[in-house]
Amino acid sequence: MRALALALLAAAIGQAPVAAQQIYDLLLKGGRVIDPKNRRNERLDIAIAGGRVVKIAAEIPAAQARRVANVSGYYVTPGLIDIHAHVDAQGAPLNLNPDHNTLRYGVTTVVDAGSSGWKNFEQFKSRVIDRSKVRVLALLNIVGAGMYGSKVEDDVGEMDPEAAARMVRKYPGTIVGIKTAHFQPATWDAVDRARKAAELSGSVLMVDFHPKPGRGYRELILEHMRPGDIHTHFYGRLTPQLDAQKKVQPYMLEARKKGILFDVGHGSGSLWFRIAVPAIQQGFLPDTISTDLHKQSVMLPRATMTNVMSKFLAMGMTLEQVIERSTINPAKAIHRPDLGSIEEGGTADVAVLALERGTFAFLDSGHGKLTTDKALRCVLTVRNGEVLYDAEGLSLTDWRQAGPYSNFK
Ligand SMILES: [Zn+2]
Repeated sequence: MRALALALLAAAIGQAPVAAQQIYDLLLKGGRVIDPKNRRNERLDIAIAGGRVVKIAAEIPAAQARRVANVSGYYVTPGLIDIHAHVDAQGAPLNLNPDHNTLRYGVTTVVDAGSSGWKNFEQFKSRVIDRSKVRVLALLNIVGAGMYGSKVEDDVGEMDPEAAARMVRKYPGTIVGIKTAHFQPATWDAVDRARKAAELSGSVLMVDFHPKPGRGYRELILEHMRPGDIHTHFYGRLTPQLDAQKKVQPYMLEARKKGILFDVGHGSGSLWFRIAVPAIQQGFLPDTISTDLHKQSVMLPRATMTNVMSKFLAMGMTLEQVIERSTINPAKAIHRPDLGSIEEGGTADVAVLALERGTFAFLDSGHGKLTTDKALRCVLTVRNGEVLYDAEGLSLTDWRQAGPYSNFK
């Protein structure tokens, strides 16, 4: 017994220093970190423990981490933020499962843009938001029943600013603002009631807008929207952002100066290269890049986050510009400055992206094709310190060195 006790003690002493050195859960080693908020674009190691980023340095020894992902040759960015998607998977008809359609594209925060309203948000929360690994936030539809077709979405009686604002205030960490969409009657009711709800709740407003006679786009962005409000789908065909000579309309510049934000919201109908290319050539870039991902847009135009980002690279934006509009800009737009960056002490939400070279073709909403020589692909996603997607096995062990079955989890 004494010999056994001594042996155990010796083993404990012998192993203690090794165990003590492994102070990190995960080390992302050797990647090129692009973090626009902190103006970083350099090779850095990132150590993660307890779900937080705990150290960022040029060199952190691999022996100090229980798990090491060699990410040299890849870009390491803050977890991507998609502020326009539809992920009420068990509710509104076109919605997708959030985890399956975000994490493998580097998205760690997704905002459901108005799939539910104040009448059904709590069901959405309990059956989807609370059960997802990806952080799901929401813009609450000003329509109480949410996106359930034109019958309810055109019904002004469904639009109660006080009830919507009460629901936003009840879930301040989850509901980031108000959404109005799809409204067809030629009145300002939907926009103005949504704006009122945003004002009452101190939250942001996102507008999807279909101009009608007497209800024009210029008036929307200059008179009915306020600084910080977001117009989504702004490279779509419904709104007149260019003149007949494809020149950006002066009211677009005026609205931007006033503080109106312009969001992509790709979707099935809202990214047209024939609009976006001339706008970008004239320097009118999006403030935020988002997918409007749903059951249709995920198919032919393939509006996944990394694809939408790749389309903007192909249209001439720099990698830094694209990442800024997919991380810190959307974080600011939804008033969540705690997201969209990689900082010591911050939540460990990180994307690792490959910038691949070759021949790639991307489609727009009109199924027009743009051929390019580079594309972004997500290879690894960390959410709250946990590796949830690892396409190349970068954080994993070769099977021949993996040891007994009990090591596999
Ligand atoms: Zn949408």
